[in-house]
Amino acid sequence: MRILLTNDDGIHAPGLAALEEIARGLSDDIWVCAPAEEQSGAGHSLTLHHPVRLRELSAKRYAVTGTPTDCVMLAVNQLMETKPDLILSGVNRGQNLGDDITYSGTVSAAMEGALAGIRSVALSQAYGRAEVGKELSYDGARGWGEKVLRPLLDMDFGERTLININFPALPAAEVEGIRICRQGFHDYARVIVDKNTDPRGMDYYWFGLRGIAHTPSHKSDLEAVKEGYISVTPLRLDLTQDTMLDKLAALY
Ligand code: MN
Repeated sequence: MRILLTNDDGIHAPGLAALEEIARGLSDDIWVCAPAEEQSGAGHSLTLHHPVRLRELSAKRYAVTGTPTDCVMLAVNQLMETKPDLILSGVNRGQNLGDDITYSGTVSAAMEGALAGIRSVALSQAYGRAEVGKELSYDGARGWGEKVLRPLLDMDFGERTLININFPALPAAEVEGIRICRQGFHDYARVIVDKNTDPRGMDYYWFGLRGIAHTPSHKSDLEAVKEGYISVTPLRLDLTQDTMLDKLAALY
């Protein structure tokens, strides 16, 4: 089995090293193509307005001066003569749950893989308040990653479908188990914008992550991870809101 690894935290991220460890338990044919720099929050963006550079760091290991989506595109269409059987994106530093996934470069890399007709899985490691600003151990992901992924290896995901996995902010030994659940949502999101002044006197703005509230009580990925479970959520790229089709058609 040929596995392509990518992420949005960058080629040197400890979470990618954790993912490589997990993937080596599944196969010997591991390729890595990841952003040269951190790309968290890049979403599904594609670099169109400047050239992208590709650096070979070692055999089957590449850094890309672009987004996670760029990485998957380059790997699948340029680097790899045979398409990968599986794309794993992560392990992201921080959870990708509920409404947040549309911002996620980690999940978007898996979306790009799904669009290319390749089984794709995004993996993220939640962390607690005590770990803010600190290096994560990825102990939960390391301890459970292979166990969660192995049953998926022979499964047909179907078209335009990917799987989003989140590990709770717990050491592997304290993880409660695996829960299959749907994508959750924030009850409301209060965007925090820090306004400040740079050394040359110009205002700048910095988006903060605090202040987003949710009630994790919707049988969702948010609830599972809060309760100490690993969430496994199938996602689809067809975003059509079916119930609106007839309503809109009636307007015209
Ligand atoms: Mn990230």
